[in-house]
Amino acid sequence: MSKKIYLDNASTTPVEKEVLKEMIPYFSEKFGNPSSIHGLGQEAKVAIDKSRKKIANFLGCDSEEVIFTGSATEANNIFIRGVLGSFENPHVITSAIEHDAVLKTVKKSGVDYTVLKVDEDGFVNPEDLKKKIKKETVLVSVMYANNEIGTIEPIKRIGEMIEKENEGRDRKILFHTDAAQAAGYLSCNVDELGVDGLTLSGHKIYGPKGVGVLYKGSSVNMRPIIYGGGQEEGLRSGTYNTPLIVGMAKAVELIKEKNKKEKTEELRDYLIREVLKIKDASLNGPKKSRLPNNTNFSFQGAEGESLVMILDQEGISTSTGSACSSKTLEPSHVLKAIGLKDLQAHSSLRVSLGRKTTKKDLDKFLAVLKEAVERLRKISGR
Ligand code: PLP
Repeated sequence: MSKKIYLDNASTTPVEKEVLKEMIPYFSEKFGNPSSIHGLGQEAKVAIDKSRKKIANFLGCDSEEVIFTGSATEANNIFIRGVLGSFENPHVITSAIEHDAVLKTVKKSGVDYTVLKVDEDGFVNPEDLKKKIKKETVLVSVMYANNEIGTIEPIKRIGEMIEKENEGRDRKILFHTDAAQAAGYLSCNVDELGVDGLTLSGHKIYGPKGVGVLYKGSSVNMRPIIYGGGQEEGLRSGTYNTPLIVGMAKAVELIKEKNKKEKTEELRDYLIREVLKIKDASLNGPKKSRLPNNTNFSFQGAEGESLVMILDQEGISTSTGSACSSKTLEPSHVLKAIGLKDLQAHSSLRVSLGRKTTKKDLDKFLAVLKEAVERLRKISGR
């Protein structure tokens, strides 16, 4: 059996062994409830506090501004619904290519909202955003980097624009970014970015699934969306999941050492060059300002799902669009937002690289891909 090749790192990543090692004692040895005052509880509390400090270092914020959640989805919901729920008659602005954890949350919030169009590479235009601001606007949520096409949004520029805009306003606009995909490769210093809220996910950065982080600037007022024991300043009630929190912090701590940005970019560019040699293949998303580990292509006349299946039979994992929503047969809202027709969107393949990806893996992938595209085109009569 030949080696499995995993090229779906935007969907999820394996837990790094150092991360697992840190987590294990907190399952059944150091299992105390961090809210208990006895020794076992306090031992777990110390671990949570240390984890919080590590995340705060990564974000350049105070420990008190770090909230542990059950996922990035939950962090997005807590911030967006929490902020909107604390204003009367609020208006919120987001972009058309957000993950559903933001887009659906905004659309279902029951408040006035604007969804910004993006250009053909997926970029939000800060000037366009500025024009959409109303006097009721209380929140802007634009993702740091897109999970399907890798577009890195101009978060710093948007942050600066909002800061300027806020100078003359009674109702200050808060700025939130979903950094679930960005955190592995881009700086997440919240002051430099100019954000009031930021979301992270454990399993996108070689940490465990089922844990996320919400950065909430100390001046942000918001309502809880769930009620219970009052953990995390009352904003995320529920007993602390110590092993996952410890794992998340270790994963964040290892990013710098383990994620090789330049090497990944080189491999990405090699892959793009080689894939575009295939007739009628096109790249979705930008050439520049793109996540180092993301590629996304369309192959005219070859269906994306069939490509994924053929590649899988050869031990290569890839995906069409976003794995989180690929159960639906609807074409990806992201690919539609950048102007792809349904047929082009259905012929898309996302190939996302990771720490373990080698040039040899990509060469094997390319060989299988070329044959698969040819075979599918023959079947579809193209
Ligand atoms: N936000 C983005 C940009 C994502 O890519 C994902 C997962 O694909 C999520 C949020 C959801 O993350 P989680 O699985 O931690 O809820």
